[in-house]
Amino acid sequence: MKSEYLGILESTKLKRLLEMSAGVCSDIQVQISCGTDDQDLVTVTGHAKGELSLICQRCMNEFNHHLEVKFSFTPVTAKTQVDELPEVYEPVDVDEHGLINICDLIEDELLVSLPFIPMHAIADCSVDEHDTVVGEIEDIVDERPNPFAVLKSLNK
Ligand SMILES: [Zn+2]
Repeated sequence: MKSEYLGILESTKLKRLLEMSAGVCSDIQVQISCGTDDQDLVTVTGHAKGELSLICQRCMNEFNHHLEVKFSFTPVTAKTQVDELPEVYEPVDVDEHGLINICDLIEDELLVSLPFIPMHAIADCSVDEHDTVVGEIEDIVDERPNPFAVLKSLNK
């Protein structure tokens, strides 16, 4: 048995996602199917998509980022043997009423899908890649502790 839902998650309710955006987040279109699989596991699968604005970390201008995630949840309780669940499902804990908050879960998935360092595609960016990409990579490397420095302090 399966039930299908199509709906909209209003962006005003997605506070955490709005916070990550540069100010604009579209409503999120969601398609969800709930059912049970061959092993009698309850499954909540579907996808969500929308758009939000991000600041390009190369040119510091805003751009539209397309959001799209797929999910496959299975609600679990304290009694569930999580280790035995098929890997295709992401186990989610039910609350004290035996419910899962699908809006929060979808928001989590969308947050995880955001790029770590938001940037335009090179062709769309107003900064020439030769000017900055190399510099940025060097900056990131420089922030890491130098393994040889650690060795030096050990030798003292
Ligand atoms: Zn850019």
